[in-house]
Parts: sequence; C-alpha cells; structure tokens
Amino acid sequence: MVDYATSPDKAQELSKTALALMAELGVVAHPNNFTIFYNYLSGEKPDLRQTIDILRSNHREFDELQCRDLFARFFDNVREREIVSQISEDLRIQLTSILETVRNAGIDTRAYGLALDHFCEYIGDKDFNNLEQALTTLLGATREIEDVNHILETRLDHTSSEISKLRQDLEDMKREAMTDALTGIANRKAFDLQLRDAAMQSMESGKPLSLLLIDIDHFKTFNDTHGHQAGDQVIRLMAQTLQQNVKGRDTAARYGGEEFAVILPKTGLGCARQLAEHIRHNIETRKVVSRSRHQELGQVTVSIGASTFELGEPLGRFIERADKALYLAKARGRNQVATERQITEDDTSSPASQPGIDKQRYA
Ligand code: GH3
Ligand code: MG
Ligand code: MG
Repeated sequence: MVDYATSPDKAQELSKTALALMAELGVVAHPNNFTIFYNYLSGEKPDLRQTIDILRSNHREFDELQCRDLFARFFDNVREREIVSQISEDLRIQLTSILETVRNAGIDTRAYGLALDHFCEYIGDKDFNNLEQALTTLLGATREIEDVNHILETRLDHTSSEISKLRQDLEDMKREAMTDALTGIANRKAFDLQLRDAAMQSMESGKPLSLLLIDIDHFKTFNDTHGHQAGDQVIRLMAQTLQQNVKGRDTAARYGGEEFAVILPKTGLGCARQLAEHIRHNIETRKVVSRSRHQELGQVTVSIGASTFELGEPLGRFIERADKALYLAKARGRNQVATERQITEDDTSSPASQPGIDKQRYA
C-alpha cells in the first residue's frame, strides 16, 4: 500500500497530486481510491500504472464500480486470506480430534492387552468356569479397538481430503496470480519468473535462449475506430495466435496492454526470427470480425523485436535489446520483424526505450 520508505516531503507531494488527480477524474474521495491513485503516481506497482494509463487513454470513467475493481485487483487479497485461514482452522480442528482419538485408542489398547492377559491366565489355569466371561471381555475389547480404528480411519480420510482441498485452493490462487485475466495466457509476473528460469537453464546447459517482443501496430487508432470491446477481442485473438504458434517449452505472455512476449528456450536468434516472421504473417492474414456486429473490422498487424541471451548478462539488458529491435521494426514502417543484429547506434539514439507501454515511443 502506501510506502512509508518514501520521504515525508515526497509523500505529501504525492498525496496532494493524487487528490488533485482524483478531483480531475471525478473520483470519489474514499481511502481506497486514494490508495489507488497514490500508488498510481508513485509508480510502485507497474501493472496498476499501466492499467490506469490504458483506462485514461481510452477515456474510461473512474466510477465507483471501476474503482472498486481496481482496488480488489491490486490491493485486496482478503478472499485469499479468508480461504487460507478457514482451511487452516478446519485442519486444526481435524488434527485435534485425531489426537484425541489416538489418545483414546492408547487407553483402549491397554484395556485390550489386560483382557488378553486375563484370557491367557484362564487358559493357563484351565479354569473353564471363567472362560466364557473372559471371552466376552476379550470380544468387547476387540470390538472397541475395531470401532476406534474405524473412527480413526474416517477421520484420517477426512483430513487428507481437507489437505488436498487446501493444496488445490492454493494452486488455483497461484495460477490465478500468474494468468492474465483478459486472455488467459501468462501475465507479466509469470513472464518475469519464466524468463529468470529460462536464463538459469540456458547458463547451465549452454543452450541459446531468445526473446520476442510483439506490439500491435496503430492499436490506438483501431480502438478509436472500432471501440474498446473490439480492441479487447483483438488482444484475445493475438494471445490465441501466439499460443497456437509456440511449442510446449516456450512461454507466450501478455507483457503489457497491447504488448506480448514469447520466451524461446533452446532457440538461437535465426530460428527466433523465423518464428517471429511466421507469427507476423499469421496475424497479418487473419481477418478480425466483430463478434457483436458480425462485421469485418479489417486487418491488424504487429511489429516484432527479437534478441538472444548473452550468458550471464542482466535480464533487463536482454529485454532491452528486444525492445530496441521492436522500436526499429516500428521505425522502419511496422508490420515487420527486426532483430538485435540490425540495431545500430543511430537506431538506438531515439527516446529511451524502456520496456513497457510508452505512448510516445513509436510516434
Ligand atoms: P504503435 O504502432 O506505435 O504501437 O501505435 P499504437 O497506437 O499501438 O501505440 P500506443 O502505445 O500509442 O497505443 C497503445 C494503445 O493500446 C493504447 C490503448 O488504447 C491500447 N490498449 C492497451 N491495452 C489495451 C487493452 O487492454 N484493451 C484495449 N482495447 N486497448 C488497449
Ligand atoms: Mg502498439
Ligand atoms: Mg505499445
């Protein structure tokens, strides 16, 4: 939430700006909304910043519903905490009752042992008068043991299904946290983790690793012409196309608003470029049809930048080269692929190409 490592002066300035921006955007002055806009301005949550930038560039209203959504998405993990604490509590109750049963089983086992001892004594003394009584006692003790075992078994069954449920819930939550809600493919967080893994594997195996950054061309115009819903449909179509064009070990991710990334382990720059060209062509030849109006919306194209990992380099530099190549593909007319090999000093002297959405970047 609000970062207390920020200096008081800076925090005050951010607070003032946040309130002014909220007023400008017609956002209700509520502590949750303040948290959203304070964090938006401080830039600490890049995903939040990107989302609000997109909403603003599309002139979306920051009404109560929108703000509630933003808060739930970026700040509220109450539901997850509730699930975890509920299941932990269930488990605690289960385990306590099992312990109790085991303890009782211990006492009953002793009773059983005693009954068995008596039985043997009677047999040893050949005192058949008491045999019936001894047998009855032994049978009773055996039944008790059986009962306790049965209860124990049921409880253990129940507990193990509770544990499986807990594990399933945690897996669901983890998957949810790694998935982009609009497209269902890996999100930026998953991308970061996968890239780190892939780089580590590349260093261990010495096998190459390449990266594609893909950005939809003139997407702002597309949105302005056909509306945001149709734009969202295109973003889903992009994700689908990428998934269809990559192999199991590759990762296609939504990198930012209308930017995608593909991580290509065991792939050199040449093959990465070929795949990029294939993807570019595939998208260029697809027709976008409006789902609501069943009307053709024309062609969408993408520009792609490719880079290859230099063993041991910081991942930021690896991404930056793909981003510069992407910038080059845009500058050279869009709907094309460029690789890091084509980058020259001239091409990179353009505005700082930070990865992520920057509206001025390809202007
Ligand atoms: P360029 O060819 O230089 O990439 O031009 P562009 O218009 O695609 O680039 P710019 O960065 O100016 O605009 C990106 C636009 O993408 C802004 C926003 O309207 C749109 N966009 C980003 N994320 C989403 C989204 O989730 N849904 C929709 N519908 N549009 C989005
Ligand atoms: Mg674009
Ligand atoms: Mg972009």
